[in-house]
Amino acid sequence: MADLEEAFYSGLVLMGLSDYRVRANYHDFASLKAVMQRTGNLVTVKASRGFEAGGREVLVGLALDLIGRSFRRRVPENAYTSAFQEFFRNAQAVKLSHSLKRRFGRQRRLQANGSHHDLNDVVLRLIHEYPVLQELPVPKIGWNAQGGARLVGFYDEAAHEILISNRLDQKRVPFYVLEYVVFHELLHAKHPSKHNATRRTVHSMAFKTDEQKYPFYQDAMDWLKRHDLNAHWD
Ligand SMILES: [Zn+2]
Repeated sequence: MADLEEAFYSGLVLMGLSDYRVRANYHDFASLKAVMQRTGNLVTVKASRGFEAGGREVLVGLALDLIGRSFRRRVPENAYTSAFQEFFRNAQAVKLSHSLKRRFGRQRRLQANGSHHDLNDVVLRLIHEYPVLQELPVPKIGWNAQGGARLVGFYDEAAHEILISNRLDQKRVPFYVLEYVVFHELLHAKHPSKHNATRRTVHSMAFKTDEQKYPFYQDAMDWLKRHDLNAHWD
């Protein structure tokens, strides 16, 4: 069993920091996370027990991530940081698909052809028209009934699938709104979210730059806002 304190001592050494004492414990957080505090030369850490399963490499990677943040130092990429990032990414993907099952119901039989719009057509058209989407491995897409929720689009990173609320499959919904929402979700397929110990970056700068290339971006956002809907959930 990997030792959390030992991992933080190793992390401090790797970052060229000495003279620190470490007190590290596992803690029952609601989600996979870890926090670190510095008081004088004492470093206090609480980390989800879930990290233990990753083994020593992941724990040292976690330590480097938190130490880098706390001391405001850049952590060079190495085997520990990549083990940690991969572990965290996988854990998030698992969590995501669980919460998706709760949100969208169990079966995932994707139906792209709605009563007004065929989502596959929308995807093909977008990929054809916008160079920013051209290299993209085309995700599967389907309509989804999701009573109550305000979100209208979701990209499931684990399954490489896009779900669009069938609220948008109506005559009164302008086509550019539907198209924008699909565009946004396609960009999620292009820009995987980045993870670190404390948060996910879902809409990176690169994402937002690409998103501006949709000509009716602002109109679509305004329409969604007026109808109290969200383009995405994250
Ligand atoms: Zn989004």
